[in-house]
Amino acid sequence: MANQLPASSWIWKEGEFIAWEDATVHLLSMAVQFGTSIFEGIRCYSTPRGPAIFRLKDHLRRLFDSCTIYRMPPGFSPEELRKACHDTVRKNDHQSCYIRPMVLRGFGSASMHPGASPIETFVATWDWGNYLGEDALKDGVDVCVSSWNRAHPNTFPQAAKSAGHYNNAQLIKMEAVENGYVEGIALGPGGLVSEGSGQNVFLVRDGVVITPFLDGTSLSGITRDCVLTIATELGFPVREQLVPRESLYTADELFFTGTASEVTPIRSVDRVQIGEGAGGPITLAIQERYLGIVKGELEDPYGWLSYVESDGEG
Ligand code: PMP
Repeated sequence: MANQLPASSWIWKEGEFIAWEDATVHLLSMAVQFGTSIFEGIRCYSTPRGPAIFRLKDHLRRLFDSCTIYRMPPGFSPEELRKACHDTVRKNDHQSCYIRPMVLRGFGSASMHPGASPIETFVATWDWGNYLGEDALKDGVDVCVSSWNRAHPNTFPQAAKSAGHYNNAQLIKMEAVENGYVEGIALGPGGLVSEGSGQNVFLVRDGVVITPFLDGTSLSGITRDCVLTIATELGFPVREQLVPRESLYTADELFFTGTASEVTPIRSVDRVQIGEGAGGPITLAIQERYLGIVKGELEDPYGWLSYVESDGEG
């Protein structure tokens, strides 16, 4: 099965390290029964100065925002979890990895008021290549517009990265894969482009880099923010706007952004070829700068890297 997780040795649980295989939760925990779990997806890259975690503080801020929205205060401060991420990378001897902090409701009550169920905090890590496939960064991916929509903003709060929301993501992804595509792009409840199952989406038209507004139907991606910054720095005008479905088909270039997917070109949508059918020049210029910064090969003018060796200092 593609993308199967390669186990690492240790998982951080509530301030201690436990063996990977011991990181179990009860069948009747709120997290298992009802998807009551907040999580983040963060990358640590191998750099010339050793492993470095990308935009760690921003990911932890989103984690704490998600916890606030779902009234699940973790028993640890952002600083403690920042240190836990560094410690877990070090303990598992990773040069590069994916980092998954999770705050979940354990076993306690079955009430829809989960207050009686304890909150447990974990940090897991594993080695992971590009989520959309080894060649995706170079060759681009074939995608479809999903028949599933993203939720109405007042159904699921999309600023929260909550496990339950990802049932929708699984429907989008499974349908796409079963129909021979790598990924699906979902529309929002208003019929306009929202995002992929686990990525934000960008298009390029006449040299302008365009992405849908954060309209409450999509996640506020940290890679999305990086791309808006990098595109501006490279001198491309950027625009956040309403994106009708048909503008996907007529775009000069299209690409996904995400921590796991990085900056992945889209070469077709619903079998309509985009541009030359591979990464376009603006996509590739942004991708090159993004990957150069995350891997520490280019200067990091924004202070996005947090070096594991120095515990994030300097
Ligand atoms: N949208 C969804 C639904 C996601 O799961 C992700 C991945 N976290 C993204 C967008 C991209 O967010 P980021 O760039 O912060 O990884």
